[in-house]
Amino acid sequence: MNPPRKSKYYDPEIETMDREQLEDLQLKRLKWQVRRCYENAGFYRERFDKIGLKPDDIKSLDDVLKIPPVHKKEMREEQINYPPFGRYAVAPQRDWEELHPSSGTTGVPVNTIWTRRDVENITQWTARMMWSFGTRPGDIVQNGFAYGLWVAGLSVHYAAKAIGCFILPIGASLTDRQVDYFMNPGATVLTATPSFALYIAERMKERGISPDDIPLRIGTFGGEGGTGDPLTRKRIESRLGIDAYDIYGLAEIGPTCAAECEAKAGLHWAEDHILVEIINPQTMKKCKPGEVGILVQTHLTKEATPLLRYWTNDNATLTTEKCACGRTHARSVGGILGRADDLIIYKGENFYPLQVEKVVKSFSELSDEFVIRLTTNPKTGMDVVTVVAEYTVGAANTSEFKKKLQKALRDDLIVTPEVELVEFGTLQRTTFKAKRIEDKRDKAKAS
Ligand SMILES: [Zn+2]
Repeated sequence: MNPPRKSKYYDPEIETMDREQLEDLQLKRLKWQVRRCYENAGFYRERFDKIGLKPDDIKSLDDVLKIPPVHKKEMREEQINYPPFGRYAVAPQRDWEELHPSSGTTGVPVNTIWTRRDVENITQWTARMMWSFGTRPGDIVQNGFAYGLWVAGLSVHYAAKAIGCFILPIGASLTDRQVDYFMNPGATVLTATPSFALYIAERMKERGISPDDIPLRIGTFGGEGGTGDPLTRKRIESRLGIDAYDIYGLAEIGPTCAAECEAKAGLHWAEDHILVEIINPQTMKKCKPGEVGILVQTHLTKEATPLLRYWTNDNATLTTEKCACGRTHARSVGGILGRADDLIIYKGENFYPLQVEKVVKSFSELSDEFVIRLTTNPKTGMDVVTVVAEYTVGAANTSEFKKKLQKALRDDLIVTPEVELVEFGTLQRTTFKAKRIEDKRDKAKAS
């Protein structure tokens, strides 16, 4: 079903569908999904029965607010109580095709499953996303997302295949080989986490290869906060000589369910497959357009392990204003603005690692790597937050510079963290998701 190469859209009917029609489709699918969850999954039936909610009570898209949100913790508990997959699997086991658990960075991995139909849908919506930022048949796609259990690697692979690309399935490893492939056979599209892309660019520079020496044209970077941030985007773009686009997904919902189009005007959601809400965590009501809240997602078409109102803990905004590209699907402008989980509370003020990242990356004297170290002052028992950053080759580790950095951090975070500067190359590089918080607090004292 590939569109002509020149076509702006991969699936014009769906991508430019008017909002009213799109919302009708969403409601039809929502009703179908709620009913099958209630009828086939003990996990959902119990939750509905507890508050006296019936599938027939969902009559409009706003009625979705009646359904209690699902938290990751609850999925984990469900899995422990009903091993190995919990009772939120709705499709029968004979229809299961792939297992994709979460990474387990915040505890026991949560299992999610794809049926054949789910694989087909994910392939199509990912192909649509990749097309929207310029991937075309004949492109050489260097897939630097991890293959295997992680959702992004395989979905990009399937999608690139569907579009008709030549795929280099290298995965999130072999940094030098990544650079080799830029030259020969000459990748034109790169997919990776932003931190890995910057690491590859660092290697490329060390080897004396300029962006002008390679045919790489575009790339999409996700899996951690990143390309939505203008400075990270600028660095990836200038160091690799490409246009960089943000992409978003998560294991529980699915990979690549939102990506930027060529207009770079925020993440477009695959709204025909996923119902997106932005919820104020205090009032539990819907936020107004443009207001920051928690991203909550509902599977409209997922067969195997559908989630009704998954509480992602990611902060974002939403707008349904038509994009310059002509697509009607809602967008989160500025991408994901931070994870509620990562919120650091220090001396009564709250801040996110992404804010620290922005400040660190605004200094050319510093590399892209940094760590936020949390420790306990042994005398006072109070938390200490230290930002550890690397000075680049040639830059001086002076007390004046330290003060300048500290001031810039205070301006953004309101509190003043400690600052430690280390030599370039000291901090660990990653090919997967960068780990920005190092919690070394004395838990006994802290409590
Ligand atoms: Zn657009």
